[in-house]
Amino acid sequence: MENFVVSARKYRPDTFQTVVAQASITNTLKNAIKGGQLAHAYLFCGPRGVGKTTCARIFAKTINCTNLSAETEACNECDSCKAFNTNRSFNIHELDAASNNSVDDIRNLTDQVRIPPQMGKYSVYIIDEVHMLSSQAFNAFLKTLEEPPNHAIFILATTEKHKIIPTILSRCQIFDFNRIGVSDISKHLEYVAQRESVDAEIEGLNVIAQKADGAMRDALSIFDQVVSFSGKKITYQDVISNLNVLDYDYYFKLVDQFQKNEVPDVLMTFNEILNHGFDGHHFITGLSNHLRDLLVCKNAETTQLLEVGGETKERYRQQAQSAESGFLLQALQISNECDMQYKASMNKRLLIELSLIRIAQLTLKKK
Ligand SMILES: [Zn+2]
Repeated sequence: MENFVVSARKYRPDTFQTVVAQASITNTLKNAIKGGQLAHAYLFCGPRGVGKTTCARIFAKTINCTNLSAETEACNECDSCKAFNTNRSFNIHELDAASNNSVDDIRNLTDQVRIPPQMGKYSVYIIDEVHMLSSQAFNAFLKTLEEPPNHAIFILATTEKHKIIPTILSRCQIFDFNRIGVSDISKHLEYVAQRESVDAEIEGLNVIAQKADGAMRDALSIFDQVVSFSGKKITYQDVISNLNVLDYDYYFKLVDQFQKNEVPDVLMTFNEILNHGFDGHHFITGLSNHLRDLLVCKNAETTQLLEVGGETKERYRQQAQSAESGFLLQALQISNECDMQYKASMNKRLLIELSLIRIAQLTLKKK
């Protein structure tokens, strides 16, 4: 087997421009570099897998590059950039505070901080998961943070900003990283698929993007998982069966059946879903999401809240047009009630069936 490099590493961005969906942050960092206004400490906050460490590394490389481009990007060709790109640079130090959180670990680091870099202008210290530092370690670190030497820049990264003590917060320039939207993740997966000569259906990539819940790193590892299972061709069906995701076809079908008041068909569809091994609660939250998405499509302005792409979006639009807002709202209320009562219910299947019957009869009364 040829050397397999996981996509999350292989396609890790190496310039600000290639970072996905964090433009406001990368622009601010670039402007600071361009204007020569670097802070001594930065705090990168946000959920996992959205590019905090990646941006920290790009930042470290860029401020040490000897031949910055007009767009304030690292050249990737000078000695310093080459050292960075092959993980040989002495200008970057990374500490994972999740596993190195003692006072001694921090002392080792602060001892190093005093030594000026042999090459390049700055030594960058990245402390990942900084909220994991013990309180003693925090205090030991605070001294260095109060009087850092000119060549030292700290980038602290955390998924839990609220756990950082105020004395640290007040000394950092804070950047909040966003969850990455489904369409941005999808687009990036499309790019990776192309580069890997994988023929992938957009709908399939959308499911992966949804499953990743805003984290690009997760999206890429799920992508790898699906590729190892399905090979160079990925279909929507492959993805949902591999990831055990309920096919949204069922929801489209159910809403059609609801509107035609076809109670027996509705119950048979639900039975089929259970027979495929899907959990009832999972089904009902999925139904609520589907109804919510249809409501969102009722209005041109809110349609952008719909996190699906291409043909699927059109399908949502069409089904939304066929349904009245009043019906969708009532149906959503019923499925939401069902969702809330689900855990306490002694007969869960009956609870869902009753809810489905009520929804299927909503439009009946008017006729
Ligand atoms: Zn360079």
